[in-house]
Amino acid sequence: QDLTFRVTVRPVADQRVILLCFLDVTHLEQAGQMRRDFVANVSHELRTPLTALMGFIETLRGPARDDVAARERFLDIMEGEAGRMNRLVGDLLSLSRVEGDERVRPRDQVNLGEILSSVLRTLKQLAGDAGVTFDEDFGAEPVVLTGDADQLMQVFTNLVENAIKYGASGKRVTLRIERSARDPALRAPAVRVHVIDYGPGIDAVHLPRLTERFYRADSHRSRALGGTGLGLAIVKHIINRHRGRLKIESELGQGTQFTVVLPLQISGPRGESQL
Ligand code: ADP
Repeated sequence: QDLTFRVTVRPVADQRVILLCFLDVTHLEQAGQMRRDFVANVSHELRTPLTALMGFIETLRGPARDDVAARERFLDIMEGEAGRMNRLVGDLLSLSRVEGDERVRPRDQVNLGEILSSVLRTLKQLAGDAGVTFDEDFGAEPVVLTGDADQLMQVFTNLVENAIKYGASGKRVTLRIERSARDPALRAPAVRVHVIDYGPGIDAVHLPRLTERFYRADSHRSRALGGTGLGLAIVKHIINRHRGRLKIESELGQGTQFTVVLPLQISGPRGESQL
């Protein structure tokens, strides 16, 4: 690993000795670089639909002025591009909110089965349009945990929406809740929620980076499906806030399984999400 040091030279009182101080600023440098990359990515993601919009406005003012059929088609495309910008801004706001909240411990008692049922109701139409049916197994006993209901809704909405969007060819999405008397990594009673699709899967090289902002395994497909590349980054932050972990397993041609492990009670330091 490359390290960056800030070096200061200090003469010591009797002048025959100097003191060299090395301060490790690697983390500061990395944080600065990440911030610069993020701003560059956001600018690029916003500029692409903006450029398209400006191009179509020019065409509508000029060559397509009196072409009614072309005008309708262009307006449809412009609506799509404006929608893309709107989703991106929405996801950026969500990301900034969940990052800000990460140090604040959630305190509500939430019923996980109710949250998942509500997610499935919201996504029923999307699944139906994609020819996907849900398979659900929420267990006999209700699972109640300490958490933030809105944020947990967002986690499972993002995961199930991805399973529908990317795994539609598998025709089925499974949601399963499992209790674990003691999760070995969290060292506490926990619950596992599995979101499984039977689609094309994700190549193993992408798995460690999937939760990075704007990282896409298949950029063309993500954009074509209206993805912002921020969904899993938001998921990771929310799970960290709940001191949980996220596991992603995938096999090409077989499908993908996202497992969210959440402690029933939140205590102790913030856990890192594991891949
Ligand atoms: P996006 O808005 O692009 O969907 P996400 O952060 O939600 O962004 O996901 C990051 C990337 O992970 C996606 O672009 C896609 O390539 C991949 N991905 C996520 N979920 C799945 C899945 N269930 N099957 C295949 N690929 C997936």
